[in-house]
Amino acid sequence: MARPKPATPRPLLVRPGARFRCFGDGLCCTDIHALGPVTRSEARDLRARRKLSVVFNDDIDGDCLAPDGNGRCVYLGKQGCEIHRLEGSAAKPTGCRRFPYGLVATPLGGRITTEHRCPCRTLGDRPPLSVADAEASLSNHGGRLEVDRVAPDRIELIDGQRVPFALYAEIEAELLARLLRGEKAETVLGAKPLPALVDKGWAVIAAEIFDSRDPSAGGEALAWFGDALLELAVGHKPPPRPRPWAASFARATARTNPPENVEAIWNDWLADEIWMFRWLPWGPFDVARAELATRLAVARRMQARIRKLGVRADQAAAEAVMICELIAEGSDWGSAVAAFATDPSPAQSLYEAPKQAKVRKRRRTRK
Ligand code: SF4
Repeated sequence: MARPKPATPRPLLVRPGARFRCFGDGLCCTDIHALGPVTRSEARDLRARRKLSVVFNDDIDGDCLAPDGNGRCVYLGKQGCEIHRLEGSAAKPTGCRRFPYGLVATPLGGRITTEHRCPCRTLGDRPPLSVADAEASLSNHGGRLEVDRVAPDRIELIDGQRVPFALYAEIEAELLARLLRGEKAETVLGAKPLPALVDKGWAVIAAEIFDSRDPSAGGEALAWFGDALLELAVGHKPPPRPRPWAASFARATARTNPPENVEAIWNDWLADEIWMFRWLPWGPFDVARAELATRLAVARRMQARIRKLGVRADQAAAEAVMICELIAEGSDWGSAVAAFATDPSPAQSLYEAPKQAKVRKRRRTRK
């Protein structure tokens, strides 16, 4: 039997359709719960530059860049990052240098990923993602690629059923192509939002999200998410709330003409969520599809609510995506997904189609 290929960061792989350019909107340098973490040596360097530029953050149990009175990094000046401006990108802390890129080692190569919690990723005239640009961000000071996540050689599709990575990649490629072609995201995911939970209700999950808020802009984002989840689960009517990062998104909207297609914003975001394997620790791909369908439903609710405030449709969608990505980074959401009841997916045909196609192909080759 052929030995499974180990995960490797090379060759570098870009998801078809991924586009990005940093417009310097500065949102990633503002108060999203915590500006960090930074390593010990980075904290030492940062303190040497400016005495009070590092603070300890209890939530992530580590050192972070200090926010000023408006929740912005103390190094964020009128012309963007002061460290970047004066010493170049390489001098910035690793987390800053990498964002929004990430790298997943897989048996087929290193997937370059991009986070969407930044208007530069969701709005504006963005060229196809540049491998050279990403590689520079993803390499450490010694020029070696640093991996964020490793995909196993077999992927769990439904509870207890694992397939070789190459077969999973075929199934996934078909889903990503459908998203890129503009097919409705819900149809592509083929899973129901807010699925049954094992030992609690969705209202309890929403309450846990409300409880985990802090006074930062990130805390406000959690409230938006909790409101929309409660509205979908039990019809709760959300109270008016300030929109976190509205000014950054308004700047991005001003440079985005014509407006982006809202459905394309959802599809681009979901394609990256699948591609980056954020879902791997949460269970099989079935659970991932239900999880994404849930966050998409919440995103659509929030977008509709932001639209009612007179915000342009694509900006409202970009703000909703930002909040939905942020929630997935927190441990509360991970424990919510752990409560999903893992029924065999009604969309099992998604997985069967490529297998059957493979068998047909083999038969044809034999003739
Ligand atoms: S150090 Fe620079 S890039 Fe990092 S958060 Fe501060 S301003 Fe932004």
